[in-house]
Amino acid sequence: MTTTTATTGRASARRVVGCGTRGGTGVVYDPLTGLTHRTGQPVLTGRTALAHEGITALPEVPPDELGDGTPVSVCWSPIVRCNLACPQCLDDKSGPELGRGERAEVAARIATSGVLGVDVSGGEPLLIRELPTLLDVLVDGGCAVSVTTNGTHLPRRAEALGSRVDAIRVSLDGPDPQRHDRWRGEGSFAKAVSGIRAALAYGIPTQIQTVLMRSTATGLPALVELADRLGVHGVTVLQYLPIGAGAKLDAAERVPDDKARDLIAALVPTPVPVRLRTRADAAGFTVVRADGQVWPNTATTTAIAALHPLAFTDSLAPTGRDYSA
Ligand code: SF4
Repeated sequence: MTTTTATTGRASARRVVGCGTRGGTGVVYDPLTGLTHRTGQPVLTGRTALAHEGITALPEVPPDELGDGTPVSVCWSPIVRCNLACPQCLDDKSGPELGRGERAEVAARIATSGVLGVDVSGGEPLLIRELPTLLDVLVDGGCAVSVTTNGTHLPRRAEALGSRVDAIRVSLDGPDPQRHDRWRGEGSFAKAVSGIRAALAYGIPTQIQTVLMRSTATGLPALVELADRLGVHGVTVLQYLPIGAGAKLDAAERVPDDKARDLIAALVPTPVPVRLRTRADAAGFTVVRADGQVWPNTATTTAIAALHPLAFTDSLAPTGRDYSA
């Protein structure tokens, strides 16, 4: 993952990470970025508060190189429904969802599976009424927990999330209403920005996630400036993945990785760390789908396939890395 980083006052705060051992190595999972770091220190275990600067200074390690069958982290998509209809969406919204009781069982299984972190995504997870209860189960199980959202419902739900989650990731695909709303629908920019402000007001470490496409690339410098003005803790630039509904855009919107790295390198430095997640970085991540099936992504995936049901707490192998869209 390519990163440009600067040190700021906001960066000195302590944040909760997930700590443990993989393949005999002490590792730290950062719920803000989804990255895994090698500690090189005596092993910490479970949810641990560390200084932001201390976390980002640790060397990154691709989780699938750690040689252990349990993923460091998973993305759990407990819902496929969404209030938006973005053409670049990774999801196949025709898929089934488990009911409330079965969702609670999946949360309990993930919580006791040994993963260090969970990113709760979707669909739009803030549409789930009992989301705070599910998050409590994951946190009580020792996981570092983030939520990935389009931000629409954050203003009304940020207070409840503030005492539960360790990070929020909000999708923003342009620096202004014109450019963002083209992809995420009319009025969605204003709601997402309100959501970011609400999350920050409740003290939640907050990251902006933006999908890099040919049509959004020119807006990246202004988006990073906006991120700095808002006071978020980082920006992750996600290479668009040709999966789900977004598979139809592939030829027209794909940006080569070398060009994406050039775009990041050309950004005027701000106090906000900017990271690039390439398609290769996303390969190997493990998803628990809304129907309870486990899905491991690969570099060539173009469909959200099922591997097996999450029937047992040890059924999350093979090793994977974070996924979020
Ligand atoms: S990309 Fe996110 S916000 Fe847009 S439709 Fe898909 S799940 Fe909803």
